[in-house]
Order: sequence, then C-alpha cells, then structure tokens
Amino acid sequence: MRYMTTDQYGFDTLAIHAGQDPDPRTGAVVPPIYQTSTYAQDGVGAPRLGYEYSRSGNPTRDALQECLAAIEGGRRGLAFASGLAAEDTLLRTVCRPGDHVVIPNDAYGGTYRLFAKVAECWGLDWTAAPLDDLDGMRAAFRPGHTRMIWAETPTNPLLNIADIPALAALAHEYDALLAVDNTFASPYLQQPLALGADVVIHSTTKYLGGHSDVVGGALVVSDTGLGDELAFHQNAMGAVNGPFDAWLTLRGIKTLGVRMDRHCDNAERIAAYLSEHKKVASVLYPGLDSHPGHETAAKQMSRFGGMVSFRVSGGRDQAVEICNRAKLFVLAESLGGVESLIEHPGQMTHLSAAGSALEVPADLVRLSVGIETVDDLLADLEQALG
Ligand SMILES: *Cc1c(COP(=O)(O)O)cnc(C)c1O
Repeated sequence: MRYMTTDQYGFDTLAIHAGQDPDPRTGAVVPPIYQTSTYAQDGVGAPRLGYEYSRSGNPTRDALQECLAAIEGGRRGLAFASGLAAEDTLLRTVCRPGDHVVIPNDAYGGTYRLFAKVAECWGLDWTAAPLDDLDGMRAAFRPGHTRMIWAETPTNPLLNIADIPALAALAHEYDALLAVDNTFASPYLQQPLALGADVVIHSTTKYLGGHSDVVGGALVVSDTGLGDELAFHQNAMGAVNGPFDAWLTLRGIKTLGVRMDRHCDNAERIAAYLSEHKKVASVLYPGLDSHPGHETAAKQMSRFGGMVSFRVSGGRDQAVEICNRAKLFVLAESLGGVESLIEHPGQMTHLSAAGSALEVPADLVRLSVGIETVDDLLADLEQALG
C-alpha cells in the first residue's frame, strides 16, 4: 500500500491505511514505534533501507509522513516537532533576507509572533492584510519581493474565511507561493492543494492528533522539487518529531473523519443555541448564513468545523466570567481534541498580539467544541452564561 493514491481510495481508507502496511517481519498491523536514534549498517556506506540516523529518517515518522501526504492529496508530507517548527522550516526554505510575505491580519498569535519577533530580525519583511479583501491583498504585494501569501482559513480565533482559489491565482500572478494553514478545517473538511495552494501547514497538535496528548506539526506539498528542498531543511534544521509522537499522531489520524463529523454536528447545535442567547452579541461560525464568509466557506469546505467564537454584550469582564464559570468546557489553550475547551483569546492564546494590529476583541470567547454528548455541552454553556 506504499503507493496508495487519493483517487484510488476514500479519505477514511487513506487515513487508516496510507503508509501503514502491516510490518513485513512480524505482521504487526500497527506500525511499530521505532524508538531508536541510529541504525546498524550492512557495510560502510550501506545503510539498510536508507536509514542511518533518526533525525534524517525514522520508519514511524515516515509512516506518518506518507499518511499526511495521502490525506491532503499531496505528494510529499513532512512531520515536525510542532506547528511552529514546521512554519519556521517553511519560511527558511522559501525566503531569504529582503523577501516579503503577506500574512493574515488575524493570524494565529504564534504565527504572528514568529514573523514579528523572530523572522523580522533575520531580514524577512511582512505585511498583515485582511485575506478576504483581494484588493487589499493586491495592494500589500511587493512585486519582486513577495515570495508567499500565508493564509489561514478559517482563522484563529475570528473564524474569517479566505477564498483559497482566488488567493492562489493572486500569488501565482506574481510568481509567489500560497501557503495555507489548514489546522482549523483539517484535510477532512478542506483540501487546499486541490484548490490551488502550494503548501499546506498543520499544527497536528490539534485535530489531526485529536486527543490533546501530543504536540506536532506538518507541511504537505504537491511539487516534488519543493518537497525535496523542505526535506533537506527538515534534516538540516532538525526540528523533527520523535517516533512516539509520530505514532500518537498517526493513531489520531485514523479516526479524524468520524471525529470531525461529530465536532461539526455539535458545533452547529452550539452555534445555533448561542445565536439565540440574550448575552451573546454575535456568533462567529462560518456555518451560519449570517457569517460574511459563509458562501466562500460552503464552496471550499465540506462542513464548517468544530470551532465557534462569540462576542458577549457585557464586554471583557463578562467574557472572562463565562470562561471561568464553565465546567465541562475545560478552561485551556489549544483546540481540536475530543474534549471541549473554552478560552479568552485576548488574555490567553492571542496575548502575544496585544497592542498590535492583530489584537483580538476583549469581549471574545473561543470554544473548541468536542465530541461529548451535545446536551451536556449545551447545559454547561447555559449555566456559564448565567
Ligand atoms: C496551534 C496552531 C499553530 C501552532 O502549532 P503548534 O503545534 O502549537 O506549534 C499554528 N496555526 C494554528 C492555526 C494553530 O491553531
């Protein structure tokens, strides 16, 4: 099954089998955790199956990488120690000092910090622009310097939607790449490479891992030349994940489809409930007709995901109080696990954007809707909202 292709099998089949043939020696159905740093060689310069050192290659990580490529419909998947490690590797593979990247004006806080506080020190320029405004994006372009549009859709935490085919066309007009952070949608709901993107980025910590027990990141590309360059940098920079982390992520991916269906079912119910609540000023969920990106989302996503944000009418203190009162919704950062989480982005995940153009509203609450019994989740929100 090493050469499974997306046209041959459906998504869930690929998630369960791609890169995961039974072990040839023992028949083990699940890929073993090759917890080794090095490999005995059959002679000088003759490593067995090409494995010589686990930063450069490890069979458990290879299984994950093949699976990632298959479920995103790409040719090359690369796994990293975290989403930000994947992002850093992408930036330093594609960009040089003096280059420029257009990023979302509501990028994930850690992505913003990587550009503003790290990459900028090494001579990389960036502009934050609203991804849903194509004229604004075009105005942000610096022909000859802009190497990449960095998109997130839906965005974290405002759930804004970017039109992937339109951004791909814009990037390609200027010989730039379109990279899409697909963490919020997951490949089950949205396939950016098929929509024209050149690179897909993941924090596999979130939906792909799905159980809040492992941190990881990934890049997936269709172009094998770019894939080779990224693989070179993955090894040269060394931000790889360990075999056990790769194994946990691979196990999580097997159930991605069934989990996402339940995340979406529950999130739709909760978005509808919040839309009717007196204390809620607005609900940000791309599945709602009222969402400005709803039509675009409906074109490029099969469903609208498990993340729901809302703004409360009582301001910052009320938002904080709701977060503190929730019981079943665990007060925590991160997202995409089977358990429901609640957080106040302004003081938690997006604190690093405070005081910048990317600051998020203080009255915002973000939910990562889990796969628990939905009535229990609704009851918890009812008591938390008071
Ligand atoms: C969490 C997250 C990241 C960063 O990933 P880590 O695994 O935490 O390094 C990047 N993008 C988005 C959208 C995220 O939610």
